[in-house]
Amino acid sequence: PIVLGVESSCDETGVGLVQDGLLLGHAIASSMDEHARYGGVVPEIAARAHVHAVRPVIRQALDGAGLRLSDIGAVAVTTGPGLSGALQVGLAGAKSIAYALGVPLYGVHHLAGHVAADTLEHGPLPDPCMVLIVSGGHTSLLLVRDLARAPIVHLGDTLDDAAGECFDKVARVFGLPYPGGPAIDRAARVGDPRAVPFPRPLTGPRDEPYDFSFSGLKTAAARWAEGHAGRELPVADGAASLQEAIADVLTRKAVAACVEHGVGTLVVVGGVAANSRVRSLAEERCRAAGVELRVPPLRLCTDNGAMIAAVGDLLVRAGAEPAPLDVSIDPSAPLEYAALHPVATI
Ligand code: ATP
Ligand code: MG
Ligand code: FE
Repeated sequence: PIVLGVESSCDETGVGLVQDGLLLGHAIASSMDEHARYGGVVPEIAARAHVHAVRPVIRQALDGAGLRLSDIGAVAVTTGPGLSGALQVGLAGAKSIAYALGVPLYGVHHLAGHVAADTLEHGPLPDPCMVLIVSGGHTSLLLVRDLARAPIVHLGDTLDDAAGECFDKVARVFGLPYPGGPAIDRAARVGDPRAVPFPRPLTGPRDEPYDFSFSGLKTAAARWAEGHAGRELPVADGAASLQEAIADVLTRKAVAACVEHGVGTLVVVGGVAANSRVRSLAEERCRAAGVELRVPPLRLCTDNGAMIAAVGDLLVRAGAEPAPLDVSIDPSAPLEYAALHPVATI
């Protein structure tokens, strides 16, 4: 069947259409510009924007793929984690379509979506594979077997901030525009990555090998900026050095995890996988270690509906149990399985 995927966990309304691992079409709307003046996503604004966007974006995805609503054979939707008001809008839309068409509905974990995004470009994931998920709210090293069936093993997680959060917060301190990650990436192009010796948190011999910590790095960057009070801040050097520190820690730990667990493939996903230095350093280190590297194309790294449709397609083909129509959202769902069907509780 053709799977319609709906993503609305944050500020992107994304819709994708996937069949047998093939991306047939997708469309996206973002309320990012409406949040820019607040320096971060405002949940109420995001939820309202989804209300306006969800129908036109579904229409746009269908039109782009030359399909009609009646061609849809299953619906997948992000049920968590994310902003509750935002998640509710996508779930309501997805439920209506599944109910009206009489087709199965699947609740999907947003982070499983980020992982599945890569399959749309590079085909099925090898079993097992190592996954480094780096996004605005999460930073984890995962051992993934069969994404649709097997539990996902967490080797490590961030103990405080996510890598994307560090990019976003430091960008603000540096006076760069929102969203901060892409702004740091751009500024870093003309900077010297060795200009500022930022720390490499949790890389000591007695540290947890696969956990991460980025709040100290954020503080170090803020201190460095404060040290320039009254003088012009060399933003490009600061940005390049911060980006180097983050990319160094992420790729060092991810490649070490592959080598120590004898896993031949590293998949880097999530918004921060769009970062140019994360991509180039991962490539360099994977090549040196004889590990195959897979990173989705830029448009599939940040939030989108295609990745949710991709999970739905895997679940359908695995014969997974669909969600009941009273399935609920879970704004803080841990990543255990790709299917996320929380029961409604009142
Ligand atoms: P989560 O997936 O954890 O719920 P999210 O959905 O908000 O969080 P994503 O859409 O996956 O996160 O990614 C957004 C994050 O990616 C932001 O923190 C943004 O700054 C970061 N990001 C996007 N592009 C780049 C880039 N080129 N360099 C660094 N960071 C980037
Ligand atoms: Mg976003
Ligand atoms: Fe995301």
